[in-house]
Formats: sequence, C-alpha cells, structure tokens
Amino acid sequence: MIRNIVFFLTFTLISAKFKFDNYTLYKILPENANDIQVLRNIQENDRRYDFWTNPAPILDFVNVMSSPEHKNDLEVILNDNGIKFTVSMSNVQEAINKENLGTYTSRNLRSMRWDSYYTLDQINNWLDDLVARYSDVATIIVGGETYEGRQIRGVKISHGSGKRAIFIESGIHAREWITIATTNYIIDRLLRSNNEDIKAIAREFDWYIFPVTNPDGYVWSHDEFRMWRKNRRPIRSEFGVDLNRNWNSNWFLHGSSMDPSTDIYAGNGPFSEVETRTLSEYIRSLSGQIDLYLSMHSFSQLLLLPFGNSTQGYANYNDAMNIGRRAMGALSVRYGTQYVTGNIAEAIYLATGGSIDWVKEALNIPLVYCYEFRDKGQYGFLLPADQIIPNSEEVLDSLVDLIFQAKRFGYMNSANSANNVKMSTLNLLSVLAIILYTY
Ligand SMILES: [Zn+2]
Repeated sequence: MIRNIVFFLTFTLISAKFKFDNYTLYKILPENANDIQVLRNIQENDRRYDFWTNPAPILDFVNVMSSPEHKNDLEVILNDNGIKFTVSMSNVQEAINKENLGTYTSRNLRSMRWDSYYTLDQINNWLDDLVARYSDVATIIVGGETYEGRQIRGVKISHGSGKRAIFIESGIHAREWITIATTNYIIDRLLRSNNEDIKAIAREFDWYIFPVTNPDGYVWSHDEFRMWRKNRRPIRSEFGVDLNRNWNSNWFLHGSSMDPSTDIYAGNGPFSEVETRTLSEYIRSLSGQIDLYLSMHSFSQLLLLPFGNSTQGYANYNDAMNIGRRAMGALSVRYGTQYVTGNIAEAIYLATGGSIDWVKEALNIPLVYCYEFRDKGQYGFLLPADQIIPNSEEVLDSLVDLIFQAKRFGYMNSANSANNVKMSTLNLLSVLAIILYTY
C-alpha cells in the first residue's frame, strides 16, 4: 500500500501532499519470542504495513501504521495469534496537522523557536545567521552533497586550534524530524548557553555538527510525503536508498533489502550513494581528531553501540557500555525519561551498513553511539513540537555527562585539560541516579 502510494506520487507529478487520513498507528505488545516471530513475518512478507519499529526482544512494543483499507486484516492476524495491541493514533493525519511548523525570518535569530519544526531552507537561513553572529567561533562547513545537488551543511564550533573533536550526524532518516530539531538546539546552546557545563564542553572540543545529512529526503518529507525515510535517487521505477544501510561495513549482511520499493533498500553497493560517499570521506579526513561520534535517530529511547551484526564486544566495548549507561542515567534525571543502552544487534535486530558501524570499524574512533530519541510509541516519528525542548534538554544533559564519564574512563582528554568539565550539580545527580540504577 505504502509502496503503491509512493509510486503513484512520484510518477504522476502530483504535487499535493499525501494525506494519511484515518491511517492508524498501532502499538503492538509482543509477550514472547513467538509473538516477535509472527510480527517479523508480517514485516518481511506483507508490504501493506509500515513498521515504525522493528520487532525485537529488548523493546516491549512494536509500532505499525496501517491504511484504513488494511487495518482490519492486521487486527485479525494479531487477534488470531493472541497478540495484544493498542491504538496510539486513530488518525495519523491529525497528528501531522498538529505538527507545529515555524517560520524563521532571516536576520532575526529570535524568530527561531524551539516549539516548532522548520523546513530545510529555514534551517539553512538560521545557520547562516547564527554563524554570522558568532563568527569568532562558528563556521559553516560542507560535509558532502546529495543526489539532487544540495549541500550537506553543518557548523563547526571551535574556540582554538589543536582540540579533540566531537562529530554529530543527524537527520539521515528524513522522517525523524526531532533529531534535526534537537541537533539544532545543541548547536544553539553550545554557542549561546550561560550554563557553565555547556560552556566548558563547547570550549574544550572542536564540534562538527550536521543537523540534516539527508537534505533531499527531508525536503520530500516536508513537501510531499511525511513518512519518507530514504534519499531521493530514482532506481528503476522506485525512489530512494536507506542511507543508514549504505555504509561500507558489512554492507547488506543483515536487516537490509535489495528491493528498492522497501524502506531498507541498501543500494546497489556499499557507498553507492553520493550522500554517504561524500560524507564518509569528510569524516575520514577528520578521523585522527574525532574522539566521540554520535548519530541521532528517533525513536524508541535507546542508546546503541556498534556493531549491528554481532553481540560480540570490541576492544573498548565494556568502557563504551559503562559510559553510555551512566550518561543515560543523567538523561533520566530531568524528566524521568528512561533509555536502554545496548549494541545494535541485541537492541534492534541484526542490521548492518549503518554509519556508526563504519565509523567504528574503518576509522576506529574510540567512542561511537547512536541515539534513538523519544518516544516509546505514542507519537513515534510525529513527536509533538512541545516535546522538542524537553527532548533536547535531556539529550544535552546526557551529552555533558557522557563527556564527563568518558574522561573518568580515560577518554577525550584534550591537551588543554585545565578546561575539564567540572563536577557539577547535574553530574552529582547523575552519579546518584547510577547508584540507584545499578542496584
Ligand atoms: Zn533512523
């Protein structure tokens, strides 16, 4: 169904946005391995349904969207198999209508509001204005290009030379709008916050931050099809490669498809896409400097570690896991939001060709994580704009703590260690949270 809709849209040059009127979002609650297997069979063999999350033992829910025509069939299958479910949204279009789209006015930084989502053009205008305002420490950087000829634009924040680097890659999946909003918020806070912890981490590292690494897909998700995930390269009669299955690390080994009509089409070879090819070369050019690499996704509230093909650890796996778990303790302090930390293979399911696997395997960057932001299946990709600030605040809390914990474990020590992050109230709270967590 979804496939037919996309096909129809892309080949008939209809410019009207696709409406998800009366589409249902289910929150399915598998209770055992058999339930998960039933759901995986549907996911793999029945294209009528859009799985927003993968059935996996670590998650206690699976989100599936159905058109009104096919929802009864899905409910029959679930009921026949005794699988429990609830309805998160009975009309997906209603949630889309409620997404608060802001308007950024050029040369007016205050018109960027954190309770709204913005188009690519508006984000680019805002980035230009922000960098012009903070030109002593911020510059626009170009990390690559896209099939439709756009630039993958980002911001470098640097308070001096010779610092270790942190790289943030966000928005590689077009429909995960919250990742872009939160990454923009992080850029804003690193430049403008008066909080001593945030000022310290801003000063201590070189930051390379790319809020929208799939600009073509993001534009399409605004203009035509809200649930678009991939890039926009035409492939025979279909469109788009899943850019997070296209990196040259165990490419097409697991959790990918050779069928370009699916959302997990891996492309016709590793780095077949200009977006991943150019961005990976950019990252490689910095690889000697990067101590921490973060890939921002939504949703499910997870912190994932490489690799996607194995639950076996790598050299510093235990350190990375401990640092990540503690940072997620810090994330929970402000609003009580609980994240689970684990490697991709155990947390999602086997899935390879993702950016963090390549960064870890090819560049051997010490600390590499993938965030899956809020929520746990109520709104999914359509996280209401009034959650942008809380999501961003808690993620930034966790980032401050992640750096603090990494240092405790002997990582991320810049030459100018006098600027080390201080033990603040927030960090003390997070230590308390960890003590509670580990007992
Ligand atoms: Zn994603």
